[in-house]
Amino acid sequence: MKILLMGPPGAGKGSQSERLVKDFDLTSISTGEMFREAYKNGEPLGIEAMKYIERGELVDDDITNEIVCKRLLRKDAERCFLLDGYPRTVKQAEALDDMLEKMNSRLTAVINITVDKVAILERMIGRRVCKRCSATYHLSFKPTKVDGICDKCGGELYQREDDQLESVRNRLNIYETKTNPLINYYDNRGILRNVDGMQSFNAVYEDIKHALEDIT
Ligand code: ADP
Ligand code: ADP
Ligand code: ZN
Repeated sequence: MKILLMGPPGAGKGSQSERLVKDFDLTSISTGEMFREAYKNGEPLGIEAMKYIERGELVDDDITNEIVCKRLLRKDAERCFLLDGYPRTVKQAEALDDMLEKMNSRLTAVINITVDKVAILERMIGRRVCKRCSATYHLSFKPTKVDGICDKCGGELYQREDDQLESVRNRLNIYETKTNPLINYYDNRGILRNVDGMQSFNAVYEDIKHALEDIT
């Protein structure tokens, strides 16, 4: 299975991929996560990427394509992977097609999670992430047992720099103009399924599983 999870920021891609990766034994490839990890480790790539991320802008296509290309060449991505947050532009989608073609491979399914704008804002403003293990929570919709402490690893929670209102607005605009066209790009190939992301975590998950069964 080679799956791509799409949807606006805050749609629930990260939350759903946490479960999908475990249940289907997939290699998770999240460009946002890779950039944040590189930044945390003080790598030049992370420092460069954070300049864009902080402002809610997309990281340069060439930089992004290069890290994905390297990641896809690793052994654990050979059979099954789940892409979360990549591609986000048509240029990236074309680059991904080229990479996969060279590997004699292709995407099997694209799941597009839909949510309305008000919910997106609410979700992103209340999002909290574990500093240590990157697990994602929400102040109201998925609170931790102890305030500010990760249920899974005991790490401290933080609010992402780009989850402040100003940068969220910017990201939504960019999503509309740059990423939305990808829906048609994949729909034309018959591998795209829409899933209603306005439901509970579990209901969204069940719908994704059904959509995957339907395609594969
Ligand atoms: P979200 O979970 O809110 O959709 P991500 O963690 O996927 O956010 O991404 C965070 C930020 O990292 C993006 O706003 C963008 O700046 C950068 N980023 C992630 N993936 C890409 C990509 N494929 N192309 C360009 N920038 C990206
Ligand atoms: P994305 O990766 O698409 O940006 P996340 O999975 O990080 O989205 O979810 C954004 C925020 O919304 C998180 O705080 C998460 O806990 C919350 N969230 C995700 N899915 C749902 C849902 N179905 N119902 C309520 N809150 C949700
Ligand atoms: Zn944790």
